[in-house]
Amino acid sequence: MLQGRELATFRKQLLAWFRQFRRDLPWRQTKDPYRIWLSEIMLQQTRVAAAIPYYERFLKRFPDIHALASAPEEEVLRLWSGLGYYSRARNLQKAAQQIVAKHDGKFPARMDEVLALPGIGDYTAAAILSIAFGEKQAVLDGNVVRVLARLGVIRGDLRAPKPWRALQKTADSLLDPNSPGDWNQAVMELGATLCSPRSPQCLLCPVAQFCEGRKLGIAESLPERRKKHAAVEVALAAAVFADQNGWTILLPPPPPDANVDPLADFIPILASSMWHFPAVAVTGDPAAKLRAFLRNLAPRARVAQLKLAPAGKVHHTVTYRDITITPFRINVRKLPRVSGAQPVPLHDVSILPVSNLTRKVARAVLDMR
Ligand code: SF4
Repeated sequence: MLQGRELATFRKQLLAWFRQFRRDLPWRQTKDPYRIWLSEIMLQQTRVAAAIPYYERFLKRFPDIHALASAPEEEVLRLWSGLGYYSRARNLQKAAQQIVAKHDGKFPARMDEVLALPGIGDYTAAAILSIAFGEKQAVLDGNVVRVLARLGVIRGDLRAPKPWRALQKTADSLLDPNSPGDWNQAVMELGATLCSPRSPQCLLCPVAQFCEGRKLGIAESLPERRKKHAAVEVALAAAVFADQNGWTILLPPPPPDANVDPLADFIPILASSMWHFPAVAVTGDPAAKLRAFLRNLAPRARVAQLKLAPAGKVHHTVTYRDITITPFRINVRKLPRVSGAQPVPLHDVSILPVSNLTRKVARAVLDMR
């Protein structure tokens, strides 16, 4: 990789570009490690534009580590509701509680202490320590890997442990020791904006003269694609009860230690720690399967007499699962009694922590003619 004068020029050009063109994002206006940490966790699986309103709402309700640590978990999940991957929110709160218990509520500034917090891996620790504390720790994530693979024409499956370690060394050697926080953000910004997965904008790139991938005309094909997990199709039917006041019931999240069969047991996978409509996996006639399921769930509900009105199909994708769900509206005088279930207004199911899928199902039923 680059050395000496070349490396100095490379750093200077990339930093100057970042400082002039960086996107004005709320978490870039602070050095508060709590806020930087929150933004990094939210951005793990979420686009910047989608994360901003969540970030602002979350901080309004939990302005510091103490507020987050002492909040009811349900409230934390409710504010996360819609972002997906809810283990992130649960770990965030557990880590906040750990920081209060072990570090007097102050975010730790040492790598080993940061890595001991739940939900924080090498990338997030390096991002927080460099941006908030100016520590010389280089970040390595998908964006950075793409930039490095193109700059140096690095081939193969870069997610494997050995090449990943080699890439970390490369990232460490490029890091500007005088501005580690800005440097890390600059490389990530380049990957997130100009050096995008498809059609990189090399003509605008501040370090194009150093890029071997561009010179060879193969930048777009790097990094090389990994083999994809074959998609698994899942069909579900959901029961959306509606009483005369427009209320429905949701079932509670499965217990965290529930035994999960990743292929057969879809509820823990889909619902994670969220509330959800009663639902069952189906093959064949979804109404018949759902009726059988409801007989077990609510034995006193006279299921045979219930009218199940289908509300079209809802499609949803979770990692490699393509889910098609058929929601059935079931009008009832009184909501059935189901152990652990909670009544909620059908037009506002989000008063409990729910996933996007549950919201889509509620919307499909409300949009029925
Ligand atoms: S020249 Fe193109 S491929 Fe190379 S780092 Fe810049 S944007 Fe990426």
